[in-house]
Amino acid sequence: MADVNLRQVKKSYGNLNILHGIDLDIKSGEFIVFVGPSGCGKSTLLRSIAGLEEITSGELKIDGHVVNDVPPSKRGIAMVFQSYALYPHMTVYDNMAFSMKIGGESKAEIDKRVRQAAEILQLTKYLDRLPKAMSGGQRQRVAIGRAIVRNPKVFLFDEPLSNLDAALRVATRIEIAKLKESMPNTTMIYVTHDQVEAMTLADRIVVLKDGHIEQVGTPMELYKNP
Ligand code: ADP
Ligand code: ADP
Repeated sequence: MADVNLRQVKKSYGNLNILHGIDLDIKSGEFIVFVGPSGCGKSTLLRSIAGLEEITSGELKIDGHVVNDVPPSKRGIAMVFQSYALYPHMTVYDNMAFSMKIGGESKAEIDKRVRQAAEILQLTKYLDRLPKAMSGGQRQRVAIGRAIVRNPKVFLFDEPLSNLDAALRVATRIEIAKLKESMPNTTMIYVTHDQVEAMTLADRIVVLKDGHIEQVGTPMELYKNP
């Protein structure tokens, strides 16, 4: 459970202003989608929320705490990227277990969480496989599984479907919709340039244009007032 609050968040690279003062309040458990054309700042905004980019000014809080004041391992954030950087020499199981092993979780706890995530993502049959023996969509599900096992409070997705072919994209989108139902308390923020993904997944859509918020609303509200 975590609210995400942005106040006048600005980001520039040198004298190039990318985000021009973003104000946004995201409620615990909401599924928010950032949409907008390539280059409008979606990914920069998401990476800033993840603490991967230092913002130039403004304030960014998760659960009432300024993101960059909290050590990365304590932020409760997990992120899934466009390209699933799985460890090629590890099985699906070990890929999902890895961060928990590093974190010193017990074998029993690791096993429980890996199997739960595999169940949600229909990966149980594939736990002993290596990534190279899986399709792109299955690999991206493993990447999502790796994030799930960390029990994140905030789950971030950066164009997770854009490297998949059309059929896998639809199938994986349906998996993400199910994930949303099975993790109702987890705040999810999802970046895409795909209108269909935005309309089908979002509780609220944030439309970005040139580093500004142009519109915010539910899919129905935006559909009625495009
Ligand atoms: P989107 O995700 O909407 O496609 P991005 O957030 O990736 O947009 O990028 C927004 C703008 O910021 C683009 O013009 C991009 O070239 C620029 N940009 C992103 N990262 C950097 C960087 N590290 N240095 C300079 N410019 C950057
Ligand atoms: P995306 O497809 O997610 O928007 P990009 O292809 O825009 O990603 O950027 C890939 C990486 O390169 C990102 O880490 C981004 O921060 C960085 N980047 C993008 N544009 C620039 C730029 N003009 N100068 C330096 N780094 C950039």
